Amino acid sequence: MDVAQGLQGLVDEVRGSFGGEITTLRRDIHREPELGFDTEKTARKVLAALDGLPLEIETGVAQNGIVATLQGAGDGPTIALRADMDALPIHEETGLPFSSGTDGKMHACGHDGHTSMLVGAAKTLSQDSFRGRLNGKVKFVFQPAEEGGGGGRVMVEEGVAEGVDQIFALHLWPGLPFGTAATKAGPIMAAADKFEMEIKGTGGHGAMPHLSADAIVVAAQIATALQTLVSREVDPVQPAVVTIGEIGAGSAFNIIPETARMGGTVRTIDDDLRRRLPERMEQLAKGVARGMRADAELDYTFSYPVTRNDPEAAALALRVAASLFGEERAVETAHPSMGGEDFAFFLEKLPGAYVWLGIGDVSGLHTPQFQFDEEILPQGAALLTAIALEALSG
Ligand SMILES: [Zn+2]
Ligand SMILES: [Zn+2]
Repeated sequence: MDVAQGLQGLVDEVRGSFGGEITTLRRDIHREPELGFDTEKTARKVLAALDGLPLEIETGVAQNGIVATLQGAGDGPTIALRADMDALPIHEETGLPFSSGTDGKMHACGHDGHTSMLVGAAKTLSQDSFRGRLNGKVKFVFQPAEEGGGGGRVMVEEGVAEGVDQIFALHLWPGLPFGTAATKAGPIMAAADKFEMEIKGTGGHGAMPHLSADAIVVAAQIATALQTLVSREVDPVQPAVVTIGEIGAGSAFNIIPETARMGGTVRTIDDDLRRRLPERMEQLAKGVARGMRADAELDYTFSYPVTRNDPEAAALALRVAASLFGEERAVETAHPSMGGEDFAFFLEKLPGAYVWLGIGDVSGLHTPQFQFDEEILPQGAALLTAIALEALSG
């Protein structure tokens, strides 16, 4: 049977059967956001939602992660579908009736939605009518610590990628028309690295700068100079970002501080450039600092690698999305996002694809006002379901 033909009506079917349940689950998760690896309550909610389904369930993966495996009716490859479960240290300002009950924590990246959509796919695919069409296995991967903790890396280290032939993940995407799926072959998300820098000068009296080496003035020069790396040293057609997000120094208005520190992030797509930038940052910062009788030290951490889609997997996701949502709602995007994503660690081991699912013109990811229309939940669950059906149709 042509899988694409059978996808007509799938969104309606998922909405009718499980739309209410996955919306309730999303709200329950939203009300109790958890950070990093500490997604214990969220995992418990997922397990409760999966209860009674014909799944083989492994808990405690990467601390609070879950891997639930569905054996299809026939034999064949194994595919994995992954959702992230963690929230952010942001104070929610949406005014939603199911807003975060914890000050300073919020699901501002839509991971509550991703988790609920994956539960929706597990419920749908577990039904006999769908399971009977699967030749192979589906692993539903619920991952903690996407937001900086590298939960994806830990899951890979703990063997989650082993025996899996292909993996897919969705991310809700503001700015993309509602209900539109977008992806591309190759890089879709940037390498996201971080740095800290300490500037060491000589402290002194605010009235006698000639007896000091002012760390604040040196830091200001370095902050400006670092911006010339992207504008003057990187090929203009090569994407790169250097952002200084933190800067701090001083203790009183009339004291020249001895030290200043800054922190920031570097985003790249090209591997050579990724390796080269830290060295140039250090040379430049030290050169500027020494020219001003100070010194600078760089502490650089390579964090999330580039999220690189397999061309065949990306094409499969777009083909399925076109059948499900219509041709105009399946878009091959021209450019990657410079955001980072730890799904990259899975894609270093396995072919697969990371797909954006549009939620229209809403407040951006990681903002206190971020929210989305929950009608996207059955659509996302249907897309994950359809990807599994297509990938295991052999
Ligand atoms: Zn995020
Ligand atoms: Zn996210």
